[in-house]
Amino acid sequence: MVEILVRVFQPHCHYTDMEHISDHDLERYQLGRVVGEAELAPLEEHLLACPGCVERAEEAAAYVQALQAAIIMGNFDLE
Ligand SMILES: [Zn+2]
Repeated sequence: MVEILVRVFQPHCHYTDMEHISDHDLERYQLGRVVGEAELAPLEEHLLACPGCVERAEEAAAYVQALQAAIIMGNFDLE
């Protein structure tokens, strides 16, 4: 019970020495643009330990999918 309360009232996950993943990086990750192992490894490690960032990663995935759908439907050229 105490442990649950501590979890609820702690705004940060236990990775206190690590910053959370930025929205920008989450988008790049979902777009498959994070390819370097040096960047990808800590990012995926953080996602394993941080439900908050997983949630934001899912939001980013939905955003990326909507964006890609809009690009296909509108036949936009990204380049
Ligand atoms: Zn996080």
